[in-house]
Amino acid sequence: MNVLDALKIRSDSKCELCSAENELSVFEVPPVSTGGLDGSMLVCAHCLVQIEGDVAMEANHWRCLNDSMWSEHEAVKVVAWRMLSRLKEEGWPKDLLDMMYLEDETLAWAKATGEGLSEAEKIIHRDANGAILENGDNVVLIKDLKVKGSSMVAKQGTAVRRISLDRENSEYIEGKVDGQQIVIITKYVKKS
Ligand SMILES: [Zn+2]
Repeated sequence: MNVLDALKIRSDSKCELCSAENELSVFEVPPVSTGGLDGSMLVCAHCLVQIEGDVAMEANHWRCLNDSMWSEHEAVKVVAWRMLSRLKEEGWPKDLLDMMYLEDETLAWAKATGEGLSEAEKIIHRDANGAILENGDNVVLIKDLKVKGSSMVAKQGTAVRRISLDRENSEYIEGKVDGQQIVIITKYVKKS
């Protein structure tokens, strides 16, 4: 069964945020590392354009989160948390956020896009030249690096494809070198 059909069954063919029944599509909740059913949700076009930031937030529309924030699906909870964070200046979303409970792992996912954080609080990864790094970027090592816990040395000039960012620490990224997943310090890489 494809993800769309599975989501329709899960949601009874309704937007998982506002229960609308029209113009439904699959929304893969970023950063898309999970994907599949657990990393996706069914949303209506009205919710989607606001989630994606293409139009201004309509605060009253999001009263629907009163119900959907209690969803049993992590992807839905994550998006509810992000929308409430975006609207918290309104007051009532802040109250709902305070009531919400997310497991540590889910909360880390919710925070991964920097939603609801001030510029100063955001964790931004930068390479040796100050260029911003994102999940999925390719980088090159700019010096030989000893790999912790092994005798391996990752050589200067080694390309590391599709890095992932450490969500807690802006100095660390992870990537595969010679088939082995290693932690790399951002100041020793250059975006390619
Ligand atoms: Zn909706």
